[in-house]
Amino acid sequence: MALREIIIIPDKQLRLISKPVETVSAEVRRLADDMFETMYEAPGIGLAAIQVAQPVRLITMDLVRKEGNGLTEPRAFINPEVIAASEEMNVYEEGCLSIPEYYAEVERPKQVRIRYTDLDGNVQEEDADGLFATCIQHEIDHLNGVLFVDHISKLKRAMVMRKFEKAAKRGIKYV
Ligand SMILES: [Zn+2]
Repeated sequence: MALREIIIIPDKQLRLISKPVETVSAEVRRLADDMFETMYEAPGIGLAAIQVAQPVRLITMDLVRKEGNGLTEPRAFINPEVIAASEEMNVYEEGCLSIPEYYAEVERPKQVRIRYTDLDGNVQEEDADGLFATCIQHEIDHLNGVLFVDHISKLKRAMVMRKFEKAAKRGIKYV
């Protein structure tokens, strides 16, 4: 396993549409391992491959692990898609490892049904609710070049984008 660098806005790669994974090869599993290590180190609860500059449809997640509780539940989702969404909405305060130290409330469907391929190459369907639903929608957005700040007001988005563009010009790195 190896740590990878997490790219942050305004890096244009974050706007790429990631390509489907065709086979769950050793290379894909190695990338997933690296993403888990990078995500735990950050620390974060979810990571899309494009955040480590790999434009492929792969997500890692662990909603259980917290510093010091000794628990882990590493999960990987390959080619994930939302196949149904509740009309009921839910608001969560979201953050993103590619937009460090910025948080905002985002409204999304409260429940979604997802289809994905696991690391053994099996297609799975699963219902997601609560934080899991929010996190998987946030990460699937990344695969489509969408960031959580695209769901907030134009004014707020312009402010946060400007802050990071200025920082990038000065050569400041938040990571
Ligand atoms: Zn994110």
